[in-house]
Amino acid sequence: MKKPYVYLVGAGPGDEDLITVKGLASIKKADVILYDRLANPNLLKYKKEGAVCIDVGKAPDHHQYTQEEINNLLLQKAKEGNVVTRLKGGDPYVFGRGGEEAQTLYEEGISFEVVPGITSAIGAANYGGIPVTHRNISTSFHVITGHEDPTKQKTSVNYGALAKLEGTLVFLMGVGNLTEITGELMKYGKAKETPVALVHRGTTSRQRTVTATLENIGEEVQKQQIKSPSIIIIGEVVNLRDKLNWFEKLPLNGKKILVTRTRQQASELTNRLKSMGADVVEFPTIEIKPAENLQVIDEKIKETHKANYIIFTSVNGVESFFKRLQAIKLDIRAIGNGKIIAIGTATAEALMEKGLLVDLVPEVFTAEGILTSLEGVIQKGDVVFLPRAEIARKNLVTGLQQMGAIVEEIPIYQTVIPTHRQEELLEILEDGIDIITFTSSSTANHLMEILGDENKGLLQNSKIAVIGPITGKTVMELGLSIDFQGREYTIEGLINSILEEL
Ligand code: SAH
Repeated sequence: MKKPYVYLVGAGPGDEDLITVKGLASIKKADVILYDRLANPNLLKYKKEGAVCIDVGKAPDHHQYTQEEINNLLLQKAKEGNVVTRLKGGDPYVFGRGGEEAQTLYEEGISFEVVPGITSAIGAANYGGIPVTHRNISTSFHVITGHEDPTKQKTSVNYGALAKLEGTLVFLMGVGNLTEITGELMKYGKAKETPVALVHRGTTSRQRTVTATLENIGEEVQKQQIKSPSIIIIGEVVNLRDKLNWFEKLPLNGKKILVTRTRQQASELTNRLKSMGADVVEFPTIEIKPAENLQVIDEKIKETHKANYIIFTSVNGVESFFKRLQAIKLDIRAIGNGKIIAIGTATAEALMEKGLLVDLVPEVFTAEGILTSLEGVIQKGDVVFLPRAEIARKNLVTGLQQMGAIVEEIPIYQTVIPTHRQEELLEILEDGIDIITFTSSSTANHLMEILGDENKGLLQNSKIAVIGPITGKTVMELGLSIDFQGREYTIEGLINSILEEL
């Protein structure tokens, strides 16, 4: 049996990119991951294949796991010989009960490491535009639990002492007790004009911030319906928010966007959207697999050198073709001197990475665009090779044939639906998605297939963005409406259409 090992990891305050490199490494290593309500579930996509993820914020019968149950589960999973990663919101040792979990492990003789995380006390304040210390304004900051009832007889929080501090006060878990907290501080002499901010769900797309003074923040929070989880920041540094509020000013701030491309291809779109402040959820509705009749395909690949033209109509086509070439122990020299055509810039870039210069990219990045640019170029009897998906529109083939070309299709890959995950999709949509992106017809078709007609209503509150008119047509045929449509049929074009029309 493997030796049990536990990582207690701080996932950071919400934005998944705020996890540490070490924390991420321990997610990748884990056999079992126990995660909290406040840890971003997007981080689970980094788990290794077959790793088990348990949401300890929500038990199967929907009650919350007690701390004792969590400790027991942690011990049980470790003792089964697993590497267990316990993923907690913020920092594990800041009101995260990480200390208790570590003690339990110590007592049972299980080896563990604790990986710090960015606490919401600092991270959520930052994304709210508030530095917790600032030269000449605040020389210390104090993180306090707001969970205790400050009016109870023997509170362990000393409001008398806190009221006298010049530094920034940050309360966690305090929304429910807000008026008691502010009341006690004023009672002990803190000025009622002291600026106060609440940052709700800081560092996420659902971040909301309210500011007021110690005297009227309670009323403001009531009015604006700010709930938990929020941090309460008290001190003059709150005033810096007017100038330093960078996060809420990003163009896609507050937008939760679904990316449906393959895992491998998602990152460009995901990273661009994230850098503009969007909260991105990746739910791949397609997966690329090699075609089944590889023997036939290999024979065709060996003939590629006969081609006058080789047309690549997708990045996946390029990747699959070269993977197969390598598998049959051939390299770039085997494809001959035919002219290379790429449907668009992304495909051209993929070819460049393989060491091939592209001879032609059409003005319009569609099959029709290719046909237009080849009109009068293709001579009767020219041989055209077409490595592409098994299900692909026929019009490119027929168009080329009409020009007199001999077309050799190589159906080199298939686009399949990843293992059925309807439940996950339903959860994502129920949680609320502002914009769903489709970068190909398959992404849209598959999403609807996974979702099921009976659940179509869940798409009502989401806008839909498509990469171009062909995907757009598919989306309309599925009975959905389009809110954003790219003009250049590229990721950049898709994003621009969102930015322009939002
Ligand atoms: N270990 C965590 C805190 C856990 S206690 C950390 O270091 O951040 C839970 C409290 O943390 C919540 O009640 C809330 O006050 C605060 N909190 C956690 N994540 C937050 C977020 N994204 N935005 C605002 N407050 C958050």
